[in-house]
Amino acid sequence: MITDPIAQGIQGGWQVHGGQALQEQTLSFDVIIVGSGAGGGVSAEALVKAGRKVALVEMGPLKSSNDFNMDEAQAYGDLYQDNALRQSSDGAISILQGRAVGGSTLVNWTSSFRTPPQTLAHWQRLGVDLGDMAPWFAKMEARLNIQPWTVPPNANNAALARGCQALGLHHGTIARNVFGCWNLGYCGMGCPTNAKQSMLVTTIKEALAGGLTLFHSCPVEQLLVEKGQVRGLKAGRLTLLADKVVLCAGAIGTPALLLRSGLEDDAGRTGAGTCLHPVVMSFAQFDDKVEPYLGAPQSVYSDHFQWLEPEQGFKMEALPLHPMITSALLRRRGPDLKALLSQLPYTNGLIALVRDGFSAALPGGRVSLDADGQPQLDYPLNDALFDLFATALKTMMRVQIAAGARRLMPLHLDAEPWTADEALAKLDNLPMVAQRLAISSAHVMGGCAMGTSPESGVCDTQGRHYGVKGLLVNDGSLFPTSIGANPQLSIYALAARNLNLWLEKGYV
Ligand SMILES: Cc1cc2nc3c(=O)[nH]c(=O)nc-3n(C[C@H](O)[C@H](O)[C@H](O)COP(=O)(O)OP(=O)(O)OC[C@H]3O[C@@H](n4cnc5c(N)ncnc54)[C@H](O)[C@@H]3O)c2cc1C
Ligand code: SF4
Repeated sequence: MITDPIAQGIQGGWQVHGGQALQEQTLSFDVIIVGSGAGGGVSAEALVKAGRKVALVEMGPLKSSNDFNMDEAQAYGDLYQDNALRQSSDGAISILQGRAVGGSTLVNWTSSFRTPPQTLAHWQRLGVDLGDMAPWFAKMEARLNIQPWTVPPNANNAALARGCQALGLHHGTIARNVFGCWNLGYCGMGCPTNAKQSMLVTTIKEALAGGLTLFHSCPVEQLLVEKGQVRGLKAGRLTLLADKVVLCAGAIGTPALLLRSGLEDDAGRTGAGTCLHPVVMSFAQFDDKVEPYLGAPQSVYSDHFQWLEPEQGFKMEALPLHPMITSALLRRRGPDLKALLSQLPYTNGLIALVRDGFSAALPGGRVSLDADGQPQLDYPLNDALFDLFATALKTMMRVQIAAGARRLMPLHLDAEPWTADEALAKLDNLPMVAQRLAISSAHVMGGCAMGTSPESGVCDTQGRHYGVKGLLVNDGSLFPTSIGANPQLSIYALAARNLNLWLEKGYV
């Protein structure tokens, strides 16, 4: 029997309120945090520990281990933005983001990397000098039990290691934020054993025990600002007042909330420079079972092609494949889909994550609002990106062939499982165009970038909004570029560093 620490805490009297049940009311706090993911969780714990009266407001529901039953349909509906169907505005890129207490950390795959030194050096050249981040990485690694995964990789990840080894490519073991992991492979559906050290079962749990007030199922519509000073926010029937508001609604939600509140900056940077680590995917069928739905989703990576050029590169990782999401990725119907899915137990999935935002050729996208005030993301796809996608697909297919694959299929509407002999030549003939090539992302970053002036950033290098007093940002939207590695640890560490500065200097 697994104890649900959240259900237990609520029974014990934690301050937890569901938005649907709330009456019209106005409440006052020292600090309000919007969004409960990587940035929101770290912020909540630090502020409560410092003795502040804190409200945490989350648009998604509160779900915990009693609710997590490894059911894809239920998880995508309960825990993801737009039921896991979020897309860029032209439909070319599918975007996975969390929408529940714990944010994307509730459903992420636990891969944990420090921000690469090359990325921090690039930011320094842009004027965004964060100082020595090593103590903040170490602090969050200790807090979330981030350690190299010492269990042998599942067959899906082992194929990546084997292929890289055969080709002489760099590959390494991924660290994970888990404690007592059962190696189930269902991290994306909410961890049923509480092994994943998501924000829900770590920082938010501690903050609730320390007096945090949590409002879930409560989308924040607007910030309240008077004469350049933040005063609180409106969320449905709720008016919350505070002179300090910390935005942690993620790299789409945070700029969208600023825009919805009429807080566009003069330089037009709010929502600009949104990076995605856009991903292309290659499937391969093996003679032996791979069972890509079982075991730690990601435990092997290759950075061989990440830093060969300063302006661009890509990281290779494995892609966990469960039946429902695999069907959506394949975009096939009837007998075609049935034939491909019948091979799922023998299928390996690899992804290449492109490092965007480091050059004018790969500038990222822009968040704006649609007619209903809801966020939309324009992410133009250009030749530079498609060239990189083609190189990345060829590289992944070579790795899969070297690992022993008998058939290969890049995720593209015009591809089918090709034999290893013909696959690379066939790839050269695929049209690298939007809509036909499958592109996705689970790493949304930027949109409220740090900069050294209001002309170069929405926030300063400590996360303070340039235009509004008392308004602070503390999530992935602060990044001036993509990270070049899975971003969660970068967000945890940056959020912890910022909170420390804010408390020291009396900003919160
Ligand atoms: C399926 C998946 C797998 C991933 N795997 C990894 C991985 O293995 N390793 C890794 O490093 N990263 C991974 N990531 C990415 C990582 O989890 C995110 O980069 C990180 O959680 C982002 O933190 P954040 O605080 O910026 O936003 P989030 O964690 O997304 O939190 C933002 C929160 O704000 C809420 N919100 C938005 N708007 C509003 C509003 N108006 N009112 C109230 N609340 C609002 C959202 O519902 C959400 O809960 C993955 C992500 C996904 C979706
Ligand atoms: S693999 Fe580990 S962390 Fe992921 S869902 Fe299973 S038990 Fe939880």
